Amino acid sequence: MTTSASLPSEGAIAADGTVTDRLVEANGQYASAFSDPGMDARPVLHVAVVACMDARLDLHAALGLELGDCHTIRNAGGVVTDDVIRSLTISQRALGTRSVVLIHHTNCGLEGLSDDFRHDLEMEVGQRPSWAVEGFRDVDQDVRQSIQKVRTSPFLLHTDDVRGFVFDVKTGRLREITPA
Ligand SMILES: [Zn+2]
Repeated sequence: MTTSASLPSEGAIAADGTVTDRLVEANGQYASAFSDPGMDARPVLHVAVVACMDARLDLHAALGLELGDCHTIRNAGGVVTDDVIRSLTISQRALGTRSVVLIHHTNCGLEGLSDDFRHDLEMEVGQRPSWAVEGFRDVDQDVRQSIQKVRTSPFLLHTDDVRGFVFDVKTGRLREITPA
């Protein structure tokens, strides 16, 4: 390991530690007011929500969800990757969910990200990532593609109630996307 490589990571670890300390402290307060809701692992509303990891998207508040209501599966873009299909398969087959809600959003960090990102990354680190970046130009089309991927998955038990939306980060409103 070179000096130039280790210096920034040491700084990052220190910064992360400070934020994490704050989160752990907040958990202490949360736990002190927490009482066992006595739920099992199956979501009350039998629904799985697949959404972007975006920090402006508070799924529970935006959708009126309570603790225990749903599965939330999130990644950069809310992309239906093999791993999302893995989670949905477990969600449906082991934990009883039947509906899937897909939520992408306006002003997404993946919007406009091209395969140059992957290429530049490979040039920088000397290794091609095994995953696709999944950047997109048209958010509506991206939602349509995601709906299609879920609906055509052979692993899922329930593909009749799959709906997709774009969340507007400025208004907080969902806009439903008509499937292809
Ligand atoms: Zn996003």
